[in-house]
Amino acid sequence: MRLDLAFKPTPVQHLKRLSKEYGFELYVKRDDLTELVGSGNKIRKLEYLFADALRKGATTILTCGGVQSNHARATAYVARRFGLRVVLFLRRGGERENGNYLLDRLLGAEIVEVTEEEYEKIDEVFEEYKGILERKGERVYVIPEGGSNSLGALGYFNVVLELNEQQNLEEFDAIVCAVGSGGTLAGLVAGLNFLGLKLKVLGVNVTKRPASFFVEKVKELVSGMKEYGLQLNVSELNFEVTDEFQGPAYAVPSDEDVAIIKEVASKEALILDPVYTAKAFRGMLQTYENSGKKVLFVHTGGLFGIFAQARRLI
Ligand SMILES: *Cc1c(COP(=O)(O)O)cnc(C)c1O
Repeated sequence: MRLDLAFKPTPVQHLKRLSKEYGFELYVKRDDLTELVGSGNKIRKLEYLFADALRKGATTILTCGGVQSNHARATAYVARRFGLRVVLFLRRGGERENGNYLLDRLLGAEIVEVTEEEYEKIDEVFEEYKGILERKGERVYVIPEGGSNSLGALGYFNVVLELNEQQNLEEFDAIVCAVGSGGTLAGLVAGLNFLGLKLKVLGVNVTKRPASFFVEKVKELVSGMKEYGLQLNVSELNFEVTDEFQGPAYAVPSDEDVAIIKEVASKEALILDPVYTAKAFRGMLQTYENSGKKVLFVHTGGLFGIFAQARRLI
């Protein structure tokens, strides 16, 4: 039911200098180390989604994202590892000679550029293409934005089981992650619920959608996970989504986000990305500064994004 594509378990690291400086105990789950070209959080979801795709005999994979989508790049990588054709539907705007897009091209992904309006109804666009490809004899498997359906979210349900072997989770007060499509948050929340652990998950929303959208989506995804035979109590999920750290726009860091990337890199040799983890990290520092609490940050990857925004960062 799950392929073994990521290097697991990823390490947990204590950030001693930042902990001292900000007055709380700060640990990082290094999911930026899950792979190299397939790095970040998406490969954990893709372990389940590609198992399903291969079981169903897929020959072509369709997915979508921004031009610099980490999800699209990781999907292209896994598809090519299995010799599958992959078509990426990428929203216009963003650097095209660097970062994730460069890797998509090297991997031989087919790229279809879509407008903002087309992206809003991407399911219809997928259906149309699926029909065309199927008439040519392909077997098409569609992976939703961010790989965030209930099956993909199982990847982060598993991260909680993995963490439970690595650390005494009862000693922690909170887990913090970035929220883009909600699957990572849903998986973490479900895993903690399954183990009966009381710590809360703080999701830092980096999109233009409101927090309420993700609160509903997490509940839906977790409900859907029960279909895989998991005992979950959807009325007792312990999480919160904050809208306070979205910055100027999706994929556009604020000056504070840029400063955080430089500070964390120079003080802890940890590289955050400008789209997701810098915003989430800043949200965590502001929320827990001088609280004395013990907090685990999930570093969800995104390294290639810094190359696509190099001018902003130096
Ligand atoms: C996609 C992504 C996220 C957000 O994860 P979701 O499951 O989509 O909410 C966070 N960080 C990075 C680096 C990502 O690529």
